[in-house]
Amino acid sequence: MQEFHAQTIIEPFRVRSVEPIQFTTFAERQQKLAAAGYNPFLLRAEDVLIDMLTDSGTGAMSSRQWAGMIASDESYAGAASFYKFEAAVQDITGFKHVIPTHQGRAAENILFHSIAKPGDIIPNNTHFDTTRAHVENVGAIPRDLVISEGRQPRLIHPFKGNMDIAQLEALVAEHHERIPAIMLTVTNNSGGGQPVSMANVRAVSEVARRYGIPFFIDACRFAENAWFIKTREDGYADKTPLEIAREMFRYADGCTMSAKKDGMANIGGFLAVNDDDLALRCRNLEILTEGFPTYGGMAGYDLEAIAQGLYEALDPHYLRYRIRSIAYLGDKLTAAGVPIIQPTGGHAVYIDAGELLPHIPPLQYPAWAFNNALYLLGGVRGVEIGTVMFGMQPDGQEKAAAMELVRLAFPRRAYTQSHVDYLAEVILAAYQQRQQIGGYQLVWQSPVLRHFTARLAPIAAPN
Ligand SMILES: *Cc1c(COP(=O)(O)O)cnc(C)c1O
Repeated sequence: MQEFHAQTIIEPFRVRSVEPIQFTTFAERQQKLAAAGYNPFLLRAEDVLIDMLTDSGTGAMSSRQWAGMIASDESYAGAASFYKFEAAVQDITGFKHVIPTHQGRAAENILFHSIAKPGDIIPNNTHFDTTRAHVENVGAIPRDLVISEGRQPRLIHPFKGNMDIAQLEALVAEHHERIPAIMLTVTNNSGGGQPVSMANVRAVSEVARRYGIPFFIDACRFAENAWFIKTREDGYADKTPLEIAREMFRYADGCTMSAKKDGMANIGGFLAVNDDDLALRCRNLEILTEGFPTYGGMAGYDLEAIAQGLYEALDPHYLRYRIRSIAYLGDKLTAAGVPIIQPTGGHAVYIDAGELLPHIPPLQYPAWAFNNALYLLGGVRGVEIGTVMFGMQPDGQEKAAAMELVRLAFPRRAYTQSHVDYLAEVILAAYQQRQQIGGYQLVWQSPVLRHFTARLAPIAAPN
């Protein structure tokens, strides 16, 4: 016999505990969506069949994570669970000081309060919403310097999350005394989950070191980024994701992390830094806002779940299955003519509803309408990234967003290939009926972050 290599990429786990999902009829979904003010955020999760709202904190944990959680140490100070967590973070990132926080934005809050002041500038490939908000909260100015390829939705490029090094050089040369840190988000969440190459991480680090500016990685999806480096960048095919992650962190001076992403946990995060003095200032602030530095807003069992989860996120079988599941949905949609952001990134598929529904003007929210159609037709919940989310201007005027996208984010290890096949079928059904999808108008909105709580109404009843 000869060695055989199967082509099918299987889920690298078997199911040991199941959670029923709730089937509803079309008529029930019409009623539930109307009662929710046509806002999927206001649906009860139990009325959603396949929930692709976010990949944040929604993953399934492993038997080893649960085992650690049961055996956790809940001591207030110096718990064994903290030292296990600290050792895992130090082993993977190489950073000296590990500061636990209740989630990623708390790490951002502590970091920017400790390093930035009004008028400072923070360059990043693309700031994630909470990162931007924390930079602005201390009076500093966020600057997004992703390469121009990263702004073109149809363009295929292996590392669309890369920082534009020429622009970074120019900015730093002119303003280095106002730049307390350079950040790089891996993968680039707000840019479609697109990866950053190791060459780019190295180049950013080189600029930062030349000017003596600390370099921090927003590491939420560091493992997914490592997989893209392994499969797309010369010289990394034979390295493990763990080796690649370690190299990536070696070029930086610290990182912020949401453990709800590649920490494979339901809650948690951390800030890690090398600088002793900075660590001291961060820990002082942490005690004020998060808690004692050996738990930082988490239970001992959260620390256990993350200590184990960080390694599971780096398992090559898991990463192959995860990244392929997302590309698999992307391939099916592309083959059927549904426009999506290309290529698919590390955690989500983004449907271009603006192109798909040209008959709905931006101020009647085409992406919102398409997302609602997915719920009505198949009980699927994604999220609009379009004019409802971004259209409200500070002066109270409404403006069309740059793009009308529906994001379908993949919870980690929660769904199987047949769930993805079902998803594709629902999306194609909505695509085939796109002429029958009508726009929406706002009935009520809050002054800030209106998409979470707005109530809407269909302009022409969909038929
Ligand atoms: C989720 C996320 C954050 C914030 O983390 P939370 O745990 O949601 O507070 C920061 N940056 C990026 C890139 C993220 O994806």
